[in-house]
Amino acid sequence: MAAPWAGSRRPGRNFLFVPGPTNVPDRVQRAMVVPMEDHRSSSFPELTLPLFEDLKKVFKSRDGQVFIFPSSGTGAWEAALTNTLSPGDRVLASRFGQFSTLWIDLAQRVGLDVEIQDEEWGRGADPDRIEEALRADRDHRIKAVLVVHNETATGVTSDVGAVRRAIDAAGHPAMLYVDGVSSIGSIDFRASEWGVDCAITGSQKGLMLPAGLGIVCVSPRALAAAKTAECRRCYFDFADQAKANATGYFPYTPALPLLYGLRESMRCLFEEGLEQVFARHRFLADGTRAAVKAWGLTLCAQDPKWNSDTVSAIMVPEGINGAEVIDIAYRRYNMALGAGLSKVAGKLFRIGHLGDLNELMLLGALAGAEMAMCDAGIQIQPGSGVGAAQTHFRGATQTAEQRAAA
Ligand code: PLP
Repeated sequence: MAAPWAGSRRPGRNFLFVPGPTNVPDRVQRAMVVPMEDHRSSSFPELTLPLFEDLKKVFKSRDGQVFIFPSSGTGAWEAALTNTLSPGDRVLASRFGQFSTLWIDLAQRVGLDVEIQDEEWGRGADPDRIEEALRADRDHRIKAVLVVHNETATGVTSDVGAVRRAIDAAGHPAMLYVDGVSSIGSIDFRASEWGVDCAITGSQKGLMLPAGLGIVCVSPRALAAAKTAECRRCYFDFADQAKANATGYFPYTPALPLLYGLRESMRCLFEEGLEQVFARHRFLADGTRAAVKAWGLTLCAQDPKWNSDTVSAIMVPEGINGAEVIDIAYRRYNMALGAGLSKVAGKLFRIGHLGDLNELMLLGALAGAEMAMCDAGIQIQPGSGVGAAQTHFRGATQTAEQRAAA
């Protein structure tokens, strides 16, 4: 039966629970409503120079240089590789989901020789295998190790600190490049501590903005490598950016409203406190995982150590098409869930729980997912997941006495 209000207008808000783009906070949205201005004016650097410094805090980088490109995250992938490597250079990359697959494809298409380590989808980068491959590379042909920190397609977070330790243990000089598109600003990321040479993100996830900024934080070592790297680049050239950025300008017209939005979104992150932001994501993710357990379903992540705090990829039972759950959620309940991509198409749906989000918003999504799953024929108890998440959320906010009395 159609909803009583089914018509051309859909009242209320669309529940956006894809793992990016995420909800843009109202104050960030307002900050982007600005008249256009001269990006070569003498006051323009007052907006831009602090952005670079604030982004370094988000990346937890002490000595890196941040570049902001008017692109999506894919552009930042390309910028990192083409500025620092030469055609034919070998890179070692773990592949365990759609985004690691796409990054490897891009690396191959810009002329790199990619040594691929396939892991089962649902697992993450394997530091032991990485160490082994680096030890075997006695003449140091591998120039960089590529890792996707949070594989958005499968809801898997890899241990980047462990990858750094693996590189060090092998005594190998390879640089470390990390895709933090769906982790940075939501899951702890430590560019300097982990020795990340290129850290990559986009604006539309943890930074709570529309898509349109591709951001790279580059270590001094990778910047030095850029001086001799021979991959073809023009639009994404670090040197052109660095020259203009030094005085607060860009080599071409910047995406002005997004820069104002970025200033405001970083204010949001710093007001809440980065560590608190990470804790909130863990808390909301734990509530989601409690719901999945109560439904009797499983995550694509094969071990709790891989669990992502920004996205849960939920396997649907045999004989059910995950795409149908997503379509029902969208058409019937005005809620957007993330699709299963490529190898896992139809086998799962994803709930993005990152960005500007609180318990009640997430409970709405869990309720919507329950209804869509029931409508699609999945045998779950309505309310079971919502109840489990409520218990989790209440438990963490109750005092010990309240818990004892409950
Ligand atoms: N890397 C990861 C982990 C992603 O989740 C995405 C997009 O969702 C990308 C890279 C590509 O970013 P974009 O779509 O902004 O180009």
